[in-house]
Amino acid sequence: MSPMSPMSSIKEDFDYVIVGAGTAGSVLAARLTEDPDVRVLLLEAGTGRIPQEVDDPTAWLRLLGGRIDWRYRSTPQPGLNGRVTREPRGRAVGGTSNLYLMMHVRGHPSDFDNWAYQGAAGWSFQDVRPYFERLETLPPVSAAQHDPHPASQAFLDACAELGHEKVADFNAGVMQGAGWHHLDIADGRRRGVLASYLEPALRRSNLTLRCNAQVIGLAFAGDTCVGGSTSNGGSGLAWVAAKYGTCTASRSGWACTRRAPPAR
Ligand SMILES: Cc1cc2nc3c(=O)[nH]c(=O)nc-3n(C[C@H](O)[C@H](O)[C@H](O)COP(=O)(O)OP(=O)(O)OC[C@H]3O[C@@H](n4cnc5c(N)ncnc54)[C@H](O)[C@@H]3O)c2cc1C
Repeated sequence: MSPMSPMSSIKEDFDYVIVGAGTAGSVLAARLTEDPDVRVLLLEAGTGRIPQEVDDPTAWLRLLGGRIDWRYRSTPQPGLNGRVTREPRGRAVGGTSNLYLMMHVRGHPSDFDNWAYQGAAGWSFQDVRPYFERLETLPPVSAAQHDPHPASQAFLDACAELGHEKVADFNAGVMQGAGWHHLDIADGRRRGVLASYLEPALRRSNLTLRCNAQVIGLAFAGDTCVGGSTSNGGSGLAWVAAKYGTCTASRSGWACTRRAPPAR
């Protein structure tokens, strides 16, 4: 994959600043820039130089603890006899979707319905289902129809022998048991957020990606974020006073300088 170069100009105006070019940030940037009148700045702490192994679905284990991992460690865990565990998280354009196991699981409908029941309007399973369908490109087939590996088949046969329920489709409601998963792999290559959303969106002139730009502080006016600062390889930090609206970014931070239209 080709490296994505950091932005070099000193001052630019944007309508949105997104912190983190990971899974969520990349989708957001891609969706927002579908409107050519919207200018988006996407800031990523990590690199834009993505190792070739990211493409290889079998190589994820080698990526853990490597240069595109934040390499977090847990605190000593009382339940693990005081042991410290590794907690991988992606630090690069594409975020943790460069490291994840590629399993596509929507989540159990009752979890969403419970959110809605507790007051999160618009988050019931019926509400979110169209968004899953929008990002899924496969017709509703069983994952087992994809030439399963014999070792995996033997594992599932053993699960059945032990009395575990057979799950035909983990995205069809019943999730307890053993079965085949859908994987985000196309033509033998990982399809993380980078390939699926960000790379196509970066062809648009209204999306600017800045790598190696870790946001180290945010400025708030009430509960509205109106500015922030980034560390750019030691080139300095800046806080800029701000109101609401269009954001101006420099090498060291950004600030919202114009008043936003009233909320609809
Ligand atoms: C090993 C592993 C396997 C997984 N397997 C699966 C799976 O099979 N299926 C599944 O559905 N989920 C899986 N997950 C979970 C899934 O990958 C994550 O839930 C998801 O990627 C998180 O998305 P995110 O946008 O919240 O964060 P991320 O994708 O981690 O994005 C955050 C981004 O923000 C950047 N960032 C952080 N701080 C700053 C800062 N201060 N300034 C600028 N940038 C910053 C980071 O570098 C990163 O690029 C797995 C996770 C791991 C670790």
